[in-house]
Amino acid sequence: MIKNDSKNLLFIEPNAKKMEPDVNDEVTEYAQYLMKKMRPVPGSATKGFHSCKCKQAHSGSQTYTVSVAGKSYQTNTLLLHYVKNHRSEVPEGELKKLYDGIEYEKQKALNKQLKEQQTEDSKETIKPKRAFKR
Ligand SMILES: [Zn+2]
Repeated sequence: MIKNDSKNLLFIEPNAKKMEPDVNDEVTEYAQYLMKKMRPVPGSATKGFHSCKCKQAHSGSQTYTVSVAGKSYQTNTLLLHYVKNHRSEVPEGELKKLYDGIEYEKQKALNKQLKEQQTEDSKETIKPKRAFKR
């Protein structure tokens, strides 16, 4: 079943019977990160598993939810296999969702870094005052 809409992520069915050589870039890295973050949808365990046409990978029997760029998507455990070993068949729109997620995480990390930097700065401005009172 292919679900290529705004509620689903990487619910695709690549046609290739062979895997492509591993693609190891930031999209694959991000997909690995998503594999750790995805959570099973309660009650979805009866849907059965799905085998990729290359026969080298199988999904779990559950549907998962995962947050990408602040949006919640339904996805499956073949997500990583698709971006790593069937990249040429991943539709533009699905890749775009992942790139949006990568940008979002980068921005979040940057904001955190800036906040920490500001905290550091404010510590420094406090220190001299205390030292001056002594
Ligand atoms: Zn496959």
